Amino acid sequence: MNFKITNTNAAQKIGHLNKLVLVLFFAAACSPKSKLNDVNGDVQVKIPVSSQSGDSSKYQLSVVTLKSLSNLKEVTGQFAQFFFAPGLENQTQLVGDSPQARFVRTKDNTYIPADSLSQQMATLYYHIQNLSEFSKTIGAGDINKQPMKIGLETKVGGSQTLEKNNAFYDGQSDAMLFVPFSSSELPIAVNSGIIAHEYFHSLFYKIVLKSINVAKSDVSTQKIQPLYNETYLRGINEGLADFWGWAYTNDEDFIHWSLSAYSGNRKLVLENSMIGQFENSENIFSKVQVALLSGSSPSEYLSEYIYKIGTPNARYLKQLTMMMVSGDVTSAQAKVQVAGSVLLFLNSLVDKTKALATTEILPAESLFDFMSSENSKIKLNKSQCEFTLSYIQKNELRATDSCVKQTDGTFQIKPEIKEPIQ
Ligand SMILES: [Zn+2]
Repeated sequence: MNFKITNTNAAQKIGHLNKLVLVLFFAAACSPKSKLNDVNGDVQVKIPVSSQSGDSSKYQLSVVTLKSLSNLKEVTGQFAQFFFAPGLENQTQLVGDSPQARFVRTKDNTYIPADSLSQQMATLYYHIQNLSEFSKTIGAGDINKQPMKIGLETKVGGSQTLEKNNAFYDGQSDAMLFVPFSSSELPIAVNSGIIAHEYFHSLFYKIVLKSINVAKSDVSTQKIQPLYNETYLRGINEGLADFWGWAYTNDEDFIHWSLSAYSGNRKLVLENSMIGQFENSENIFSKVQVALLSGSSPSEYLSEYIYKIGTPNARYLKQLTMMMVSGDVTSAQAKVQVAGSVLLFLNSLVDKTKALATTEILPAESLFDFMSSENSKIKLNKSQCEFTLSYIQKNELRATDSCVKQTDGTFQIKPEIKEPIQ
């Protein structure tokens, strides 16, 4: 993503606070301050985290442990390092001062953030720590460098959608950037689902985008195939990132806490009537043709459309994960399995993209196809296979594929066996 950062010396700004945050700060105001520079190691903090109660999620203040901190004043340590209103040097280096956090200590040695910025720092540190550990569990522990660089109150010029109430991962500086938040909803920087979504983008960038080195010049020559492939990859990146957000929070509507206006279309609920529905290659191709006729920036024209590609993929993965939960397999184990397969899928995307001739495109059913192959390392039972088949069959050439029982009792999708011609 291209953007411009301008560095300002503006005073640390506390955005509009939601009720939860406000109550906490009021309660904290009477306790004495501590010497935060000397506080390090594993530290207990009280922050708002998403928790499950029955079928619904909500944000609740909880005491959690930040591990391997070198300094609570800057909330820096093994997992995260913060920059306040950072700038970019040589297009790649994030520069700026560390924000200074304020906490008060309770009798039982728990630190409570005393302003919104400190709360964001502690919350981000905690989630990046968990997401790093999850990466390690699924075999991607060496993809991201530690600590993750995080910009807060980042000033982004030139784009209305990017300059407020947003967050993004920037591959060039390898940093997660949060821009000023000015709505009355939950700040994006404490929304665990959105943090997990952005964290996934860092994995996708390093595994896929960096390796295939998407040639921007191809797209600017207004050729349809490169723009199609770019659009499919952008879409799949968003969809998989939303799956990561759900897998981390268990919250199918994690976006609505911060951006209620955007949540509807991306809610990870798969109605029966939507099974097997997705933006197929023909749909994407014609949208890309329209984008090319739209004027100067076809990629920007497609910025909302990419979620229409991504969301059906995210819903499919979430449903598949839930179908894998049984007496023997917990939800956490199913998530590890599916997320591990997603990583294998990313590697397959790299191979596939590199092998493409300039006139070829990535099939839009690539993820469904991959999950039903041996390469995914997932062993599908009959209903999981048939669920996946409903997507594959949308490709006319594969309308007669079927789920075939293997010798080990699992199912794989196979093309129809043609009778030999006599
Ligand atoms: Zn995204």
